[in-house]
Amino acid sequence: MVEAITRPTEMTISLAAVKNNIEVVKATSGADKVFLAVKSNGYGHGLHTMAEAAVAGGVYGLAVAIIDEALALRHQRLTVPILILGISPAEYAELMAVQHIMATVVSIDWLKIAEQHLSGEQRLPVTLGLDTGMGRIGFRERAEVAEAIAFVQAHADKFEYVGLCTHFAESDSSDTRYFEKQLKRWHALTDGLPKPEYYHVANSGAALYHPNEVPHEVIRVGTVIYGIEPSRGELADGHDLMPVLSLRSQMNFVKKLPAGEGISYSHIYTTSEDEWIGTVPIGYGDGWLRSLTGFNVIVDGQYVPIVGQIAMDQLMIRLPHEYPLGTTVTFIGVDGDLENTVEDVAQYAKLAPWEITTGFHERIHRILVD
Ligand SMILES: *Cc1c(COP(=O)(O)O)cnc(C)c1O
Repeated sequence: MVEAITRPTEMTISLAAVKNNIEVVKATSGADKVFLAVKSNGYGHGLHTMAEAAVAGGVYGLAVAIIDEALALRHQRLTVPILILGISPAEYAELMAVQHIMATVVSIDWLKIAEQHLSGEQRLPVTLGLDTGMGRIGFRERAEVAEAIAFVQAHADKFEYVGLCTHFAESDSSDTRYFEKQLKRWHALTDGLPKPEYYHVANSGAALYHPNEVPHEVIRVGTVIYGIEPSRGELADGHDLMPVLSLRSQMNFVKKLPAGEGISYSHIYTTSEDEWIGTVPIGYGDGWLRSLTGFNVIVDGQYVPIVGQIAMDQLMIRLPHEYPLGTTVTFIGVDGDLENTVEDVAQYAKLAPWEITTGFHERIHRILVD
């Protein structure tokens, strides 16, 4: 893993915020147990940093997309339950069983292949995934679900029937028709079939906005724990959530330019008078997108704009006057009375907040703070 500790560009993850957000979602949803989704490098917040924060914050388990992410967590010596949300090759069943990693199963064929690969020394915990309308992965027929449960139960020496789950395509909108349709299908597919240890169906939207309609003993959430209100203001203001991520750097070059000087590639910005220009070592190679030129970062408690094209590793800002080298530049976070949130950045770039965070590169140093 590349972590640029030799560069003053740093992401801090607030443990207090993670803990607060876990409490908020538990209180709102009535959930006993929370699986925190830390897939894709913890939504860009750092897999290991987020996993450490989540465990300290009392989550029940961690959810990832692929086996590699699960193994990275086991190498971190975390012993909490780990759920893989996506399809894992059935040939890896024994590896998952040994590492006690729960597989999401979406076909009978998968179970048959996995059964061949399991020695029976360790049982593979499985959750059956149902497609109630996301249209992505999962069983769609009740007879197939029943057959899968029967197969798992008939091979109880190799499989452990832990979960039944589904995923909502639209749980954070004021238009609830599609959500209700999926919920109806969920009941049609599962009511009366043998119950696993637990159901887990709620993502952030369902946990926050439909807590009483869905089974909520166990929930699978990401967005809300990262301090992002999933409906983006439509259903709630999100003021009880705390931002988790701050992103800061320091100026490492400061100069005064006369009028008429071009800044960065293609000179899309030219000074119009004597201007103080600061250079900051962060760029689109870190996930600070080129479309963020013009966005206001915070220096010394005031907004200053990014000027010129953002380069791969560096960018320039226009300063009101000279500042010493090493002056802090806040891209996301609080400085004085001002604050930039992930949502502010996303709005400026016309992207979803989780697209912004997921794009932050591994070379940004991440640290967990109280
Ligand atoms: C990512 C993911 C989640 C978490 O979703 P949020 O909306 O971030 O809470 C839950 N379930 C599945 C299947 C996922 O892929």
